[in-house]
Amino acid sequence: MLELHKINKSYTTGEFTQRALKNISLKFRKNEFVAILGPSGSGKTTMLNIIGGLDRYDSGDLIINNKSTKSFKNSEWDAYRNNCIGFVFQNYNLITHLSILDNIEMGMTLSGVSAKERKTKALNVLKKVGLFEHAHKKPNQLSGGQMQRVAIARALVNDPEILLADEPTGALDTNTSTQIMDILSEVAKDRLVIMVTHNPDLAENYATRIVKLLDGKITSDTNPFGEGVGATEEYKDGIKTKKTSMSFFTALGLSLNNLMTKKGRTILTAFAGSIGIIGIALILSLSEGVNNYITDIQKDTMLSYPITITSQTMDLTSFLQQGREASQGKKNVDHKKDAVYSDGSLFEMAKTMTNNIYDNNLRKFKEYLDDKNSEINKYVGETGIIYNYTTPFDVYS
Ligand code: ADP
Ligand code: MG
Repeated sequence: MLELHKINKSYTTGEFTQRALKNISLKFRKNEFVAILGPSGSGKTTMLNIIGGLDRYDSGDLIINNKSTKSFKNSEWDAYRNNCIGFVFQNYNLITHLSILDNIEMGMTLSGVSAKERKTKALNVLKKVGLFEHAHKKPNQLSGGQMQRVAIARALVNDPEILLADEPTGALDTNTSTQIMDILSEVAKDRLVIMVTHNPDLAENYATRIVKLLDGKITSDTNPFGEGVGATEEYKDGIKTKKTSMSFFTALGLSLNNLMTKKGRTILTAFAGSIGIIGIALILSLSEGVNNYITDIQKDTMLSYPITITSQTMDLTSFLQQGREASQGKKNVDHKKDAVYSDGSLFEMAKTMTNNIYDNNLRKFKEYLDDKNSEINKYVGETGIIYNYTTPFDVYS
C-alpha cells in the first residue's frame, strides 16, 4: 500500500516561498484508478513527483508497503523508481534520436535484462498499445497520440506496481484522449494508476476515485481509503529493491549512439580539441628548434673569432694612453728662450711601444694545453687547437 502522511513541500525562489503541498494525507489501494483533479498551480505535479520519488518532501512521510522512506538512501530511491513506478508525462519525454523500440528498451537496460529478453518484452508491450508495426520508427515520425502510447508502453514494460501519469492527454485532441484513457483504464485493472488531469469529464468517465486539490490541499475525495475496509491489504511482492545498473558495454554503446546522432557536433568538437593539442605540440617543437638554432649560431660565431695567443703581444690600450699623455704634456711645455728645440715625441712613442711589448711563455702554455687534466679541455671546441709556427718551413731546392 502507498500512503502519504502529512506531506509538506515548498519551493523557495529568491525571497518568495511557495507552499505547493500543505499537510497532504492520502492512502491508495493497491488496485484502483485515481484521478487527481485541480486547477493549474494547485500542486498536482508536485504531489505526483513526490509519490514517484522524483522529488523529495520537506516534512511528513511517504510510506511504501508499510515502510517509511524518511531514511531512504539514493540507491533505494533508484530501485523504487526503476522497479515499482512507471511514469507517463504530458510531453511524452521520448528520446528523439532512438527508435521506438530502443526507447522502450531503455528502462530495462537499467534493470540488467538481457538484450534478447528486452526485445521480446518491448515488442509485446508495443503490441498491447497497438503500435507493433511502428517499432522501428523514430518518435518524430509519430502522431501525438501514438507518442503517448509509446510512453505508456515504456512505463509498463518493467511491469511496475504503480503507474503515474501527469496530464497524459493534456496535449491531445478529444478522440485521441479517449484512446489513451481506454489504455490507462485497461492498465488500471491490475495495478494502481494515479493520473493528474484538469479535465473533469475524463476523470468522471474513467477513474474509480477522484481526489480534488486546491492550493496544495485536498478538498474532496470520492472514494477515501481509511483505516477500515481493506486497509490491511498489501502488495504481493513488497517493494522490490533490485539494484539498478548498466553493463559497461551497454553504456558504451549508448554513448556511441548518442555521438553518432550529432555527427556535425562530434566532428567539430574533435576538430577543436585537436587544434588545441596540435597547437601545444607546435609551440613546444618551435621553441626547441629555436633553442638549437641559437646554440648553432653561437658556435659558428665563436669559430670565426677564435682566441689567438701569439709569442709576443703588445698592450695596445696602455700604449695609446701613454702616447696621448706624452703628446698632451708637450703642449704645456713653457719655452724660455726664443730658439729651436728638438721634438723627442717620436722617440718617446717608440720607447713606449717597446715598453709595452711582452713575451708569452708559450712553452709552458703548450705543456698546459697538452696536459689531459687541464681545465681548458672542457672549453675547447670541435675545431680544437691550431698551431702556427714563426719559423717558416719552406724548403727550396
Ligand atoms: P500543477 O501541476 O497543479 O499545475 P505544480 O505542482 O506544478 O502545479 O505547482 C504547484 C506550485 O508550486 C505552483 O505555484 C508552482 O509555481 C510551484 N512550483 C512547482 N515547481 C516549482 C519549482 N521547481 N520551483 C518553484 N516553484 C515551483
Ligand atoms: Mg502540472
